[in-house]
Amino acid sequence: MSDRRIDYYLSMLLDEDRYEFYRSVADFADKEIGPKLLGWERAGGYVPDELIAQLGEMGIFGLPIPEQYGGQGGGLTELVLAGLALGYQSHSIAITPGAAVSLGANPILKNGTEAQKKEHLPDLAAGRRMVAFGLSEPGRGSDAANPQVVAEKNGDGWTLRGEKCWATNAKWASHVVVHALTDPDGRNGHRSTCFIVPMDQPNVHYSEMSGKTVWQMSSTGSVVLDQVQVTPDQILGELNEGFKVMVTTLNGGRLFIAGLALASLAFALDRVRTYVQEREQFGGPIARFQRVQDVVLEMDLVLDRNLNWLMTLLDRYDRGVLDREQPAKVKIDSSRAASHLLIEAMEICGGVAGLDEFGLSRHHNDLFVTRVGEGSNRALMTQVARSLLPDCAGILQ
Ligand SMILES: Cc1cc2nc3c(=O)[nH]c(=O)nc-3n(C[C@H](O)[C@H](O)[C@H](O)COP(=O)(O)OP(=O)(O)OC[C@H]3O[C@@H](n4cnc5c(N)ncnc54)[C@H](O)[C@@H]3O)c2cc1C
Repeated sequence: MSDRRIDYYLSMLLDEDRYEFYRSVADFADKEIGPKLLGWERAGGYVPDELIAQLGEMGIFGLPIPEQYGGQGGGLTELVLAGLALGYQSHSIAITPGAAVSLGANPILKNGTEAQKKEHLPDLAAGRRMVAFGLSEPGRGSDAANPQVVAEKNGDGWTLRGEKCWATNAKWASHVVVHALTDPDGRNGHRSTCFIVPMDQPNVHYSEMSGKTVWQMSSTGSVVLDQVQVTPDQILGELNEGFKVMVTTLNGGRLFIAGLALASLAFALDRVRTYVQEREQFGGPIARFQRVQDVVLEMDLVLDRNLNWLMTLLDRYDRGVLDREQPAKVKIDSSRAASHLLIEAMEICGGVAGLDEFGLSRHHNDLFVTRVGEGSNRALMTQVARSLLPDCAGILQ
């Protein structure tokens, strides 16, 4: 048994096979990522192609995809366990297969036609290519039900016009699922359609978003659609039901993001436990100060409690019986608690925590994304409040 606190908790929560699987990914990350991470970050590049290929060979991109489509036949639980193991080192690396599967392959698996599944899933499961998730736009973030990207009817097909942004993995994506307005006069939530659009289709222009200070090694793209012709066989799901495809996809994504928040907390807890017992001030280790112990204890409590919660929800997700509010709640709580505790953790270590080699500032930075990504926490809180206050649901802001 390793001396990581998260391993201790997971060993109690998981059956032997799942725990072994988690440990195998953690061992890989310790050997192949941990020692190289700082060098990669300081060089300023993206997640290396060789690493993506290694993760592909390990089957990480195919974890919840059925064997008939080339996957491992597991569930979201396995993907989140891989996310915990990889995210302990780096969100940028963990989110690459994480988004590729939960936001890229998953909507095709859940909503695709048999032909779409056969065309895409074997390649996606092997990590040979990725699909990006095109929900967000420069003018549409939380208010995503009414996209400004429009699909105008054009004979048998449609013409797409507008811009998507914040598309994770765009650099490696062969396709992007574009959420576009198809029926402006339809009922709210029934006005849009998802289209699977090849990135190399004429008039699709991808560029990497510049100046990003979070998830630094992850690719985050903008995709401009300048009169792009699409046909009915490119529709993912039903016509005018694109928002449902996007929203149901995000339920799984939010559980993955909650896992990333806890992975950061787990890393910080181990770092802090070691450091405060070694660092001496005023004649002894700083761990003897109760104000230092309080932070360590709170980190441990949150990790223990939220891992239990997350694993319960993952089990329900994989059995198809999870309510929509639950993934939002565990993401909100885990991301808020972890990001709050990360700055506390840095503070109790002192100035050294501001050095990149200490590891905490990377996690502190990246935790920001867990608060806004896959639904901003504050917008999600409004959704959760609606289910708690049903008589006033229509007027809650
Ligand atoms: C690194 C990164 C990767 C991403 N990857 C993807 C991706 O792959 N695909 C994709 O489509 N998107 C992606 N996103 C976008 C992400 O989903 C959006 O940032 C998120 O949905 C919030 O939208 P916004 O940033 O436009 O904020 P806005 O919608 O402009 O909201 C700003 C703030 O206003 C407040 N607010 C808004 N609405 C409400 C409300 N109803 N109630 C209370 N407060 C509210 C909240 O505080 C919110 O944070 C990514 C974002 C980042 C940072």
